[in-house]
Amino acid sequence: MSTNVAVIGGGINGAGIAWELARRGYEVTLFEKGRCGEQTSSRTTKMIHGGLRYLEHLHFGLVRESLRDRAWLIEHAPQLVHPMEILLPIYEDSPRRKTTIRTGLVLYDLLAGRQNIARHRSWSAAEMLETAPLVPAGLRGGFSYWDAQVDDYRLVRTVVSSAIRDGATVRENTEVTSIRRDGDSWLVRTVSDENRFALVVNAAGPWMTQFLAQNSIRASYVLSLVRGSHIILRRPVSEKGLLLQSIGDRRVFFALPWKGGTLVGTTEVVHREPLDAVRPSDEEIEYLVARFNRYFANPITRSDVAGSFAGVRPLVGRATNPGAIGRDYRVVRKGNLVNVFGGKMTTFLSLSRKVAMRVDNYFGAPRVAREPVFDVVK
Ligand SMILES: Cc1cc2nc3c(=O)[nH]c(=O)nc-3n(C[C@H](O)[C@H](O)[C@H](O)COP(=O)(O)OP(=O)(O)OC[C@H]3O[C@@H](n4cnc5c(N)ncnc54)[C@H](O)[C@@H]3O)c2cc1C
Repeated sequence: MSTNVAVIGGGINGAGIAWELARRGYEVTLFEKGRCGEQTSSRTTKMIHGGLRYLEHLHFGLVRESLRDRAWLIEHAPQLVHPMEILLPIYEDSPRRKTTIRTGLVLYDLLAGRQNIARHRSWSAAEMLETAPLVPAGLRGGFSYWDAQVDDYRLVRTVVSSAIRDGATVRENTEVTSIRRDGDSWLVRTVSDENRFALVVNAAGPWMTQFLAQNSIRASYVLSLVRGSHIILRRPVSEKGLLLQSIGDRRVFFALPWKGGTLVGTTEVVHREPLDAVRPSDEEIEYLVARFNRYFANPITRSDVAGSFAGVRPLVGRATNPGAIGRDYRVVRKGNLVNVFGGKMTTFLSLSRKVAMRVDNYFGAPRVAREPVFDVVK
């Protein structure tokens, strides 16, 4: 029986899956309609994180898995993923109380266990003001904790080249226009040809629902498309990252050192526009500028914004309140079709292993993957 596998979508998840399958000895072809990593996977907040915020929604499993994957990436991809201390200032009108945040941070440390980077600590208002140019009025001190920062695009490119080195075929600029069952296999049609595969893994990210509908395949989960935008400031604000609480909507947002400037984001807006032209709206940029100015002593205007970008999160669930939808992912196998719904950048390794286990199940025997060793950074 042939065991060749097609993976559709060259974001972090499709690239990770192709790499994992190649290391298990499958003959794997990854199809990407543009360049790998140029969609959602290069428009992130650049954090490899457990997701402190997810503890509010009691998503302990996802946080624990993310913290495990975070530790592995810091150890094995130090050129791309490095620890970062994040300050969490608390103001008198902050929507969450100090005790609530302390409880979350204690739990975060506990869930990281021995793989923790360092434990959280408390800061006085004076210490915070020495470290970051914050507005002093109403500052009640706060905390710091540790997560990691990633060069997201280069991580995808490195995973892709690792997959190629380990035997995968990668076809960029090759859109899959349809998949069609033929006996026990799939005929995968692209813009230029048609090939037969024993199994298809669909990792089209935000395009998933659209792709399944076009091929008359029922989706097991509803995906909500939620846009997140960022602005980049030319000047650095602090050597440490900052996690700030937005008053009014209870959202949190980051101000992070990034390539000599500062990355500020993100937003959460239901995305109704086409998926091939995702960009921040004027309102989102105004929102980020206003939120930044609430907390930093040197206010900015739009002329300080050197750049901006947006991506669309494919979130599992319905978006009545985009902020409340979990970041958990689902892997569903129906016969020889595996669909991946959702998935953070941080957890691509765990997700890829779960997909590969479903692929093993289909072919009837578990395979052991060779150790993942990153190719030289691209
Ligand atoms: C604003 C924002 C901030 C985020 N911040 C973080 C963060 O800090 N940390 C974190 O861990 N996660 C973060 N995430 C989540 C993370 O970025 C995404 O969940 C992840 O990148 C999704 O990867 P993917 O491979 O599923 O999707 P994508 O990267 O979108 O890849 C899907 C690919 O499929 C291709 N494709 C679609 N249809 C076809 C077809 N028919 N044929 C061929 N190719 C096709 C597309 O071109 C695309 O490249 C963030 C997401 C957003 C939007």
